Amino acid sequence: MSDRRVTRQVTLGDDAHGYVKIGGDAPVSVQTMTAGFTYEIDRCVAEIHKLAAAGADIVRVAVPERKDTEALTKILHQVQVPIVADVHFHFERALEAIEAGVHKIRLNPGNIQDRDQVLRVIDACKERGLPIRVGVNEGSIVERKDKQKRMTELGGVFSDNKHGHFLAIMVAKLEEYLEIFHERDFHDVVISAKSIDPQLVISAYQEISRRFDYPLHLGVTHAGPRETGAIRSVVPLGHLLASGVGDTVRISYANDPVFEVEDGLELLYCLELRQRRGAELIACPSCGRIQVDLFKLVQDVRRKLAEQIEMPIKVAVMGCIVNGPGEAEGADVAIFAGDRRGIIYVQGERVANVPEEEILDRLLEECRRFQSRVERGEATLGQKNVAILPPDPIGELGSGFDKIAAGDVEKTTPLTIGGE
Ligand code: SF4
Repeated sequence: MSDRRVTRQVTLGDDAHGYVKIGGDAPVSVQTMTAGFTYEIDRCVAEIHKLAAAGADIVRVAVPERKDTEALTKILHQVQVPIVADVHFHFERALEAIEAGVHKIRLNPGNIQDRDQVLRVIDACKERGLPIRVGVNEGSIVERKDKQKRMTELGGVFSDNKHGHFLAIMVAKLEEYLEIFHERDFHDVVISAKSIDPQLVISAYQEISRRFDYPLHLGVTHAGPRETGAIRSVVPLGHLLASGVGDTVRISYANDPVFEVEDGLELLYCLELRQRRGAELIACPSCGRIQVDLFKLVQDVRRKLAEQIEMPIKVAVMGCIVNGPGEAEGADVAIFAGDRRGIIYVQGERVANVPEEEILDRLLEECRRFQSRVERGEATLGQKNVAILPPDPIGELGSGFDKIAAGDVEKTTPLTIGGE
């Protein structure tokens, strides 16, 4: 991991919705966007609550029509997370959203270009201390319609990059747009340069991070369904974040935006850019040695942990004893399955040996009990007290082969380990 690139810092929010800082030394934030209509107030509020509960630091809403901005005041009264208004084509929507009390505006230089209109939005934000994101998208920059002309004009600018044409347009567009902001000495700006192409995303953000000191909003636009969009997003965003570039992230899926929040957070946890909230679940991939319905168990454990555990307890669900101990090293609570049973360990100490149908409840009970012990100061996260011994069938290096040869394997099933 490289040191994080230092950017200017902007703050959004208020006392009622909390404050989020983007850039500078602030933790990388996670944001998402509601998928429903903003004018459907109750549904919009419910969706914002759901996204905030999933861990979204900031939630953006679309305001394509007047009825959407008219809904904002009622929405803002009912939610507790900073709200961004996403504005395209009509600068009036930005002014209405600002009036309604949103905490940040997103403008697209590809479709709001009139200098006076942009200045009016800047002035309104300046008056209220609101930041603006200038979000260039490969898909909405108008110059792409005249590709050949722009290639001639800009082709040489990034000629060593296979995306040189789009890269040049995106950078040029940003520079041109930001001049309007500089005219007003307005610097509460966050910038983004999204594309569907992961390599262009990397190149674009690397380039704008060299040219501007504004905080960067990272994202891959139109990444598609989560099944493929996750890789498409995490590869460039992970690369950039690991190299110190990026101050806030939005992952975009054609799916429930809760997944965007969950995956954005997991990415930041993996890179240790955010302190984990809730349990960390590790699980084996399953293989021909499996003796319980591991996939179902893992999904059930994941869902219940999210509901019941607030601490970053590390929980391991392992399908058998062969690789279980090694893979679960360091887990606070671990289960090794075998022979339709599960052996549960808490920080290396065996606490239960239960049939398959009782694994879920018992594992969660142990997680809750462990959480309470940590709360009372009787246990410490990540501190293993007792080494988990390797399974008996392996024992001394090579001894397993002798046992197999002697037909002794049945007597040394995983459930017989550790003296039981
Ligand atoms: S822990 Fe056991 S069941 Fe799971 S993948 Fe490893 S060997 Fe296979």
